[in-house]
Amino acid sequence: MQAEIVMIGTELLLGQIVDTNASYIGRVLAENGINLYQKTSVGDNPERIKQALDAALTRSDVVLTSGGLGPTEDDITRECIAELLGRPLEFRQDLYEHVSACFAAFRRPMTENNKRQAHAPQGAKSIHNPNGTAPGLIVEDARGVIICMPGVPKELYPMLTDSVLPYVREKFGISGVIHSRVLKVCGVGESAIDDKIGHLIKNEQNPTVGVLASLDAVRVRITARAEDLDTANAIIDPLDAQVRELLPGLIMGVDDDTLEGVVNGLLSEKGWTLAVVETNTGGALVQRLTAVKANCFAGGMVLPLSKVAGSNAKMIAHAYADKVRADQGASCGLALIANPAAKTTAVVFVTPEDSYEWEMTHYGTDERGQVRGSVVALEQVRRWLAGVLE
Ligand code: ATP
Ligand code: MG
Repeated sequence: MQAEIVMIGTELLLGQIVDTNASYIGRVLAENGINLYQKTSVGDNPERIKQALDAALTRSDVVLTSGGLGPTEDDITRECIAELLGRPLEFRQDLYEHVSACFAAFRRPMTENNKRQAHAPQGAKSIHNPNGTAPGLIVEDARGVIICMPGVPKELYPMLTDSVLPYVREKFGISGVIHSRVLKVCGVGESAIDDKIGHLIKNEQNPTVGVLASLDAVRVRITARAEDLDTANAIIDPLDAQVRELLPGLIMGVDDDTLEGVVNGLLSEKGWTLAVVETNTGGALVQRLTAVKANCFAGGMVLPLSKVAGSNAKMIAHAYADKVRADQGASCGLALIANPAAKTTAVVFVTPEDSYEWEMTHYGTDERGQVRGSVVALEQVRRWLAGVLE
């Protein structure tokens, strides 16, 4: 069984929106053991939409579309399918009732063009959309199945997982899942990680292991094919343990874990709070700690270098770590005092039990440098709190 996706919307071609729907659909299909054969993006043009759908139907059993189900003139997905498959649009009372109920709920008057959303190609099944007016559509044709979903992500995501996937899996008798677990490593380069676990990447079949580097973390992805999620996790567990053994103390977190979230968790286990001072980072540390609503974050200062310039960055960092801790009434203080001339940043972390200092590379003041500096410093704090610093 083979599926493809056709992403509809001129905005996608103009680069005005990022096609996050496609990556979401791709990921969810893979996790559900459905083979995605091709992705096509097409503008709001009837001839090209019909062409794209026609070509997709010659290759695949199921074609999923996103977008163009709205009420406006450029929302033409319904019309294109009707013409391509020779199934004229029909007014559907059940769809009309859903659309008008939505408008009643919004307390907005329904306009004439909204009635378009109450039309569907002859013989189509509709898919309930609890998050918007445009119903989804399933058109089963001799040539294959076309499934249309709205473009708005908060409508498409639940429609895909709650309705479309169960339908496709049942119709094509698909059992089994492809499940991934991501182990995250911060402050270590991709090649150093590859050096340790490269043999797993080469040799393993089920699960497979892959490495993906990004600015703030290296992701080690372990993927298993299995009958169900529990079995997949059982296949993943031994590899997970092997990776952890090869990278001792370096796994910051799993899947959606963030560095700041993990640090926050470790601080709260100890009942501690943290205040920070940073230079040359554009406030990247404070930004991270506020983004996770870290309840252990007590406050922070972002200082220009001129204010903390001196001959001994380490001494200044100690003084500021103590000062910010006292000022904010926090249990711990963290100071990053840059010394660009020496291409280093002095980092001092003071806790109720101890203090820890080290010299970090100065990563620079552009956006990448700010992210790297904040990640490396925070990762060091994580390791200290987790007791894995040698
Ligand atoms: P509507 O009823 O809102 O018109 P629609 O089904 O007609 O929904 P579109 O008009 O194509 O969908 O897109 C509506 C909005 O959804 C876009 O402006 C965009 O913000 C978002 N969107 C559309 N397609 C995608 C996509 N592929 N990835 C991410 N977001 C998307
Ligand atoms: Mg639209």
